Amino acid sequence: MDIRIGNGYDVHALENGLEMWLGGVKIPSEKGFVAHSDGDVAIHALCDALLGCLALGDIGHLFPDTSDEWKGADSKDLLARVVAIVREKGYHVGNADITIALQRPKLSPYINTMRATLAPILGVTEDRISVKATTTEHLGFTGREEGCQVWASALIVKE
Ligand code: MG
Repeated sequence: MDIRIGNGYDVHALENGLEMWLGGVKIPSEKGFVAHSDGDVAIHALCDALLGCLALGDIGHLFPDTSDEWKGADSKDLLARVVAIVREKGYHVGNADITIALQRPKLSPYINTMRATLAPILGVTEDRISVKATTTEHLGFTGREEGCQVWASALIVKE
């Protein structure tokens, strides 16, 4: 069996008055992410995990933030493009696991909606998509509510 594993990491800064998108879901919040796209840091880390499986670089390389084409882009569209690349290479997604570090707001009410949003884009059932959230106990830039960090792992399987 030909299986491949990848990991991704992304950070976005938080600022008052911007939208907060995480895992394809809009989260009610006073602060949102500073970004060229919609700033969905969870999807960005997931894209990098999938690209990492295939040693294809990162989303910054694929969708440069210097290009107007990706200005305000819906990160779900970026993820769909990455999944299309995975399929072109003859693989399908096995599973993915995402950990979001954010001090505020509490993400637990939105976790299952994120899983339900991401699963069809990845072409898998929800039981293959894990989304976990943690605070950093007020430590570091995340704890000071200056930003959000996300780690993602993905596994792909050759058809
Ligand atoms: Mg990003």
